[in-house]
Amino acid sequence: MILLGTDIGGSSVKLALIDSDDGCRITARGSFPFDGQPAEEMCLQIRGAADEMLAEAGLNNGDIKGVGVCVPGNIDKDRSTVVNAYNLGFHNVPLKALVSECFPGREVSLMNDADAAALAEYRAGALEGCENSILLTLGTGLGAGLILGGKIFLGGCGRGFELGHVPFRNGGDPCTCGLKGCMERYVSASRLARDGARELGDTFGTARAVTDAARAGNKTACRLLDDYIEDLSDAIAGICNMFDPERIAVGGGLSAAGEILFAPLTDLVERKNFYRARYEIVPARFLNDAGVLGAALSVCLTNA
Ligand SMILES: [Zn+2]
Repeated sequence: MILLGTDIGGSSVKLALIDSDDGCRITARGSFPFDGQPAEEMCLQIRGAADEMLAEAGLNNGDIKGVGVCVPGNIDKDRSTVVNAYNLGFHNVPLKALVSECFPGREVSLMNDADAAALAEYRAGALEGCENSILLTLGTGLGAGLILGGKIFLGGCGRGFELGHVPFRNGGDPCTCGLKGCMERYVSASRLARDGARELGDTFGTARAVTDAARAGNKTACRLLDDYIEDLSDAIAGICNMFDPERIAVGGGLSAAGEILFAPLTDLVERKNFYRARYEIVPARFLNDAGVLGAALSVCLTNA
């Protein structure tokens, strides 16, 4: 079955054709810039980019079974309207209907991007076979998607699982959401980048630069990474107490950090969770492809 996955981000729209019968293989890719164009215009661009990809693959629009779209924002309970996606400037946009107009007769699905990424990891990636599991995406923010009982958890009211803005430190740093001390201020990759820039200089203003420096033995970088892992392990130990997951996958740029992150993190989470259990914490499989893959797979979702 051929599906079109579309991942709408703050600066670009990524597309992929996916063969769901062949291990969720991506058979073609496309993208175009997003710079605040209206949703109607963007949907026409999605159709245009899809037609180009299909033509190159020797296919046509009728070969697509469905179109899945994911956005960095919250959507309504029946998964038809983007309620708020601040990075896109979309508020109460009936995106499912707009996409359907551009792809008549095709099934269309709308999903939050973090939920889509978790779905991709569960169906074909690092969480495969783990019916109770979590994907944490450590990037600019903290994205999280939860698989419960073999289904993606979309929340009681459709809002899902917003781990990044769980209160984490009383009276802590101001967050982009307007609250203070949110978890993402302390455990996103941006936190490590901020610490690196402040203590080591601007050339260390990325999480990758700090982890590389720590691996090379830089004492300040080691201390910054240790502090970061303390906070991240607090967050994950709390998640383990709440959900007792079979596995936790870590996505985003930090997932490539390797043992310098995962070994101490796994040890600390074991010491800090209520059960003193050794939880499996692994790198995610799909990095930049998680959104398009999960969006495409959401077309076949049976629980929502
Ligand atoms: Zn917040």
